[in-house]
This record gives sequence, structure tokens and C-alpha cells, in this order.
Amino acid sequence: MAKALGSEAERATSKRIGALQALWPFTRPYLALMVAALMALTLTACVSLVLPLAVRRVVDGFGTDEAALLDQYFGAALAVAALLAVGTGLRYYLVTRLGERVVADIRRAVFDRTISMGPEFFERVMTGEVLSRITTDTTLILSVIGSSASIALRNALILIGGLVLMLLTSAKLTALVLLIVPAVIVPIIVLGRRLRVLSRENQDQIAASSGNASEALLSVQTVQAFTNETPSRAKFAGFTEAAFDAARKRIGTRAVMTVIVIFLVFTGVVGVLWIGARDVRADIMTAGELVQFLIYAIMVAGGVAALSEIWGELQRAAGATERLVELLTAEDTVKDPAKPAQIDRLTGAVQFDDVTFNYPARPDVAALDGVSIDVAPGETIALVGPSGAGKTTIIQLLLRFYDPTSGAIRLDGHDLRDMARQDFRQSIALVPQDPVIFAASARENIRFGRPDATDAEVEEAAKAAAAHDFLTKLPDGYDSYVGERGVMLSGGQKQRIAIARAILRDAPILLLDEATSALDAESEALVQTAVDRLSRDRTTLVVAHRLATVKKADRIAVFDDGKIVAMGTHDALVAQGGLYARLAKLQFTAGIAAE
Ligand code: ADP
Repeated sequence: MAKALGSEAERATSKRIGALQALWPFTRPYLALMVAALMALTLTACVSLVLPLAVRRVVDGFGTDEAALLDQYFGAALAVAALLAVGTGLRYYLVTRLGERVVADIRRAVFDRTISMGPEFFERVMTGEVLSRITTDTTLILSVIGSSASIALRNALILIGGLVLMLLTSAKLTALVLLIVPAVIVPIIVLGRRLRVLSRENQDQIAASSGNASEALLSVQTVQAFTNETPSRAKFAGFTEAAFDAARKRIGTRAVMTVIVIFLVFTGVVGVLWIGARDVRADIMTAGELVQFLIYAIMVAGGVAALSEIWGELQRAAGATERLVELLTAEDTVKDPAKPAQIDRLTGAVQFDDVTFNYPARPDVAALDGVSIDVAPGETIALVGPSGAGKTTIIQLLLRFYDPTSGAIRLDGHDLRDMARQDFRQSIALVPQDPVIFAASARENIRFGRPDATDAEVEEAAKAAAAHDFLTKLPDGYDSYVGERGVMLSGGQKQRIAIARAILRDAPILLLDEATSALDAESEALVQTAVDRLSRDRTTLVVAHRLATVKKADRIAVFDDGKIVAMGTHDALVAQGGLYARLAKLQFTAGIAAE
């Protein structure tokens, strides 16, 4: 699990309500909305507090007041009801809207940040975890801003107001009620703590079950091919049942708590009513006053119950906020300079100057060790060597996904660290080993290389990539949907789309990670023609697995164990003997497997 983001236990202890402060920057822009909501809320709370006063007058008026006065009372009650209704509706709309708005902003902020994070971040944090934060954690926050906070505020107002009015109505009865309060509060606190633990357990089991399900579903064909459906079902069932068990325990505790609280509250109310009734008989208080007192007491009791319930929810939301804030403030190891160098279109001169690099996850092993290469604009360099020698690392560093531990990488003489990443990446086209295809149409997939390209340009690129023929044969031609990760296309077709995308990008530098999976001869010939067209006149660094590719390169850099052990043309290197000659004899692909 994500080390840097803290273990579940650490999170639990740090679930402080204070963490909710972090929501302030997101709510501040909507101050006006908040003030309006607060006004509506105060209005309804005040109206609720006034109602019992009116009830008392009605009750005490029975028999003594004139009929006309009674009509007036009921007329006023109607007006108050209207006020209460409108105020409540308004509060609901304003508060919920505020919550939805803030959550939408948080979701966007988290995604905006995550999409530009470097690979080191994703080595620590699972993509699924980020997704769950964007969806589940924000939902908890929504429930707080969009309702709990306002319910809490409303109940706090009613609690305080109700207590004051109770005191004013009858100090003696209030004192009696306050005696019962601890008896109600203690079970709420004790059981509330247990509820919180159980609720977290429940959430964790749900997270585990969805993580497990998404993993199985993403590789559903492998699961089926190995006839592993039954174990997969059992595993998922295990998580789901554990979640259910935690939920059942939570609900049980909650039910017990409800029984205790209701019983105690009603016992208290009945007791107070009993004493109150005797006072009424003794003419110490009026019947109306007793009714008024009772209503306040019930309102206060309801307020206490609501607050105790919301307390747990606020704590859960505080935990969720913490997790989101961790994402929002996660530091990227690679940063753009404060004043990036102004660069136009690069010519494509690439220089690695004595570059040594250790992956952050393996600080003691050098993935590259004193590598120097100078690539002239337009030149094609093949990177060859056994698996794990550091070829892909060269591509990763050239895109500045990581910074070298020592040495420098330059494009047209500018150190990568002196330019904005967006600026120089514009001049690079990448064809990765596993072509990445998005769940969209073929046309959109190609256009990914240059979003402002016209349809004609897209088709031209597809023709150059030898993809036009198969694309026009698809049911909807270029507009055919290709499925998630391009499942509706063959390996060679996906590669040609990836190449068309790179052609469309029309960048001076091309980074190519040749596919290791053997394509059929026809596909391979087509892909090869496409690549040849693409690399013409461009600086090309190709991680080569095929002899044919290597032979066409201007120069070949032979990697072994993070170092360049030989450099030259195919013929020269074969004449030298050594690692390259051995690899060439084994035709590369086989050689790599043998290494
Ligand atoms: P090649 O492309 O030549 O097969 P790579 O450049 O991918 O090799 O890998 C070079 C070395 O760096 C290997 O030993 C590999 O295990 C290691 N490596 C690659 N990626 C990472 C990473 N993200 N974290 C730690 N080590 C890595």
C-alpha cells in the first residue's frame, strides 16, 4: 500500500476534526452562498424555537380568551409554518448546492494535480487509490458540507436556545432534566466510539473488495483462461462478507444505542411530566407552560441525539479530507524551473553528458552509469543490449520523468532542467512498446498526437503509418470505436495507430520502444515501413529488438549493465566481436530472452 500516504492505522489516529479546516480554501470562494445559507438556517432555527411559545398561549388561552383571539393565534401559526417551510427549502437548496460545488472543485483539483505527477508518485500510490479518493472520499465531504454541517449548526442553535428557554420556563424542571443528561450522554459516547471503529472497518473492507474486483475484471480473460473464476469469486465473496459483517455489527450497535437512548429519554420525559403535572395541579405552573417546557425538552434531546450522530460523520469526513489534502500537496520530485528558457521548435540535437542515474526506489543500483551520447539532428541511434541494461531508462530520462543523479541531458544545448517540461515535450513523439489505445474512436486515438489536427491531417498520418487500409475497412471507418485499451484491434493495428499518432505530432525527436512481441510477417513489414517513414529526417532513438531495425540505424549504442560498452555501425560492431556480435548472431529477440 501507499507508504508515503500513511498506513490505515496512522490515518485513523490522525482523523481529527481540525483537518476539515483544509476545506476552507475550497469553500471561501462561495462566501456569499454560505452567508445566505447561514441566514436561512438561523431563521428556521429561531422559528422552531418560537413555536412552543405560541403553543403555550393557545393552550393557556383555552376557556379564557375570546374566540377571535384564538383565530388570530391560529392565523399566526399558519404564517410561522409558511416561514418555516420556505426557510427550510431555501436552506436545503443553498447548502446542498454549496456542497456539490465544493466537491466538484475538489475533484477537479485532485485530478488536475494527479495528471501531471511524475512516475515516482505512481510508484508509491496505486491508481485505484487515487480514483477511490476522487469518488468515495469526496462523497464523504459532500455529506458534511452538503448536510451534516448545517444539521449540526441547526441543532447546536436549537440546543442552546432550547436550554435557555427551558430555564426561563421552569428552572426547577430544567435542573431535573440536566440530571438525566449524563445518563443519556454516557452510552452515546461509549457506543459512539465503537461505532466509529466499526464504520472504518466497513469502509476498509469495501475498499479492499472493490480493489480486488477491479483487478480481476481488468484481467478477466486471463482469469477465465486459467479457469480461476471460482477462486476469484471466493476471494471477492470473502471481502464482501467481511464488509457485511462489519456493517451488521455496526448496525447492531447502532440499534442498541437507539434502544438505550430512546428509553432513557422517554423515562426522563415521563418523569419530568409527572413532576410537572403535580406542579400544574398545585398551581405552581400553568398547563401551557408545562407543554412548552416539554416541547423544548424534546427539541433539546433531539439536538443532542443529532449532534452525537453527526460527530462520527464529521470525523469520517475529516479523515477523508486529510487523504485528499495529502494528494493535493504531494510533492513532485521533478519540477519546472521558475523561469523556463524560451525555446522555439527544437532542431533535435540530443546530448547525454556523463549521466548517472539511480531509480528512487533503488538508490543503491545505478540504472545508468556514466552514459554519454551525442546525437546530431536527424540521426537515428539504435539502443541495444540485454534486458535490464538501461535502454528504456534513457527514454524515461529524455522525457524528464526523472532527473539524472549526476551529469546532464541537453536538447539543442539546453539542459532539460532549464526548460518547462511542456515546452520541450512538444518536440518529442513517443511510440511506446505497448501502444496505448484509449476507449474512443480510431480517429480520436490518432488525433491524440496533435489535438488541433484536421480530419485530412489525421488521414494523411494514418496513410503514412500504413493504417488507412484497415481503418477504412472497420464498420464505421475512422469513427469506429476501438474498445477499452483497444481490445477490438490486433497488436499490429494498435502499433500502426500509435505510429500514426506520432507522425501526426510531427516532432523533431522521435522515441521508439520497439515491440518485443513478434508480429506476423505482413504486419511487421507494414509497421516497419511506417517506422521508416516516421524516422526519416527526425532525431530518432529506438530501443531495438530486431536486426532489421538495427541495420538501418546510423549508429548503434550497445548497453550492458547501465553502461554503453560499444558504439558504431552494425558492420564495425560485428567486426569488433563482443556483446553486439553475440546479440546479432542470436537475432536480438532470442538473444534477449537468452540473457
Ligand atoms: P531495458 O530497457 O534495457 O530492458 P530498463 O532501462 O527498463 O532496462 O531498466 C534498467 C534497470 O532499472 C533494471 O535493472 C530495472 O530493473 C531497473 N528499473 C526500471 N524501472 C525501474 C523503476 N521504476 N524503479 C526501480 N528500478 C527500475
